[in-house]
Amino acid sequence: MALIITDECINCDVCEAECPNGAISMGEEIYVIDPLRCTECVGHFDEPQCRQVCPVDCIPRDPSWIETPQQLMDKYRRLQGETAEPEDPTVRQAHARG
Ligand code: SF4
Ligand code: SF4
Repeated sequence: MALIITDECINCDVCEAECPNGAISMGEEIYVIDPLRCTECVGHFDEPQCRQVCPVDCIPRDPSWIETPQQLMDKYRRLQGETAEPEDPTVRQAHARG
């Protein structure tokens, strides 16, 4: 389940920098979460980091975006694949052959 920012958001900016997946950005009026990038912090942290820092507690789970823990982990792995090219084993092998 992704998280969602409600209209109680006061645009304090704190959560954006805390998201390990780059899922939070400024929307038209308030900050928004991209549900395709929010893993509930699965793969990075035990707790959703944005919820930890939000001063007005306005980031509930989005009941319209239900995902299992496995789906969240799959999303995490997909996102890691976008950014972790040096971890590609063929690259490591090339370095090892060096
Ligand atoms: Fe980002 Fe984690 Fe918050 Fe989702 S729960 S928006 S991944 S900080
Ligand atoms: Fe809005 Fe909370 Fe994020 Fe601040 S931390 S921008 S109040 S959602």
